[in-house]
Amino acid sequence: MAKQTMEEKVKGLLDAKDVVFFHTEGNTHFFMGKQHSNGVENPYIITAEIREKELDWECSCKAFEFADTCKHIESAKIILVRDKHRTTMILIPSSYSGTDIIPSVIDRYNGGKK
Ligand SMILES: [Zn+2]
Repeated sequence: MAKQTMEEKVKGLLDAKDVVFFHTEGNTHFFMGKQHSNGVENPYIITAEIREKELDWECSCKAFEFADTCKHIESAKIILVRDKHRTTMILIPSSYSGTDIIPSVIDRYNGGKK
């Protein structure tokens, strides 16, 4: 099988909805990427932190450890633009802590399966 280009991989992930936006916490957008290898259910977590002049992207997948980007980040970049997510920084109150919604959203992503 011919090696897929990044463009083809991204199109495949987006068509299959294997990368999805799930929420924004302060200045960080969170996306999830379905993990197919090893039968592991836990999704990859892709984050885009809004900085003053740019977005700082990270992904928890193996490929990102060895490169500046990966197919999940490239897919999330397209979702970010397509769905018009905020890309400008906002001031976050010091009292802000926004981690409480993550488990319920992950449950929903997994279709309610535990
Ligand atoms: Zn990745």
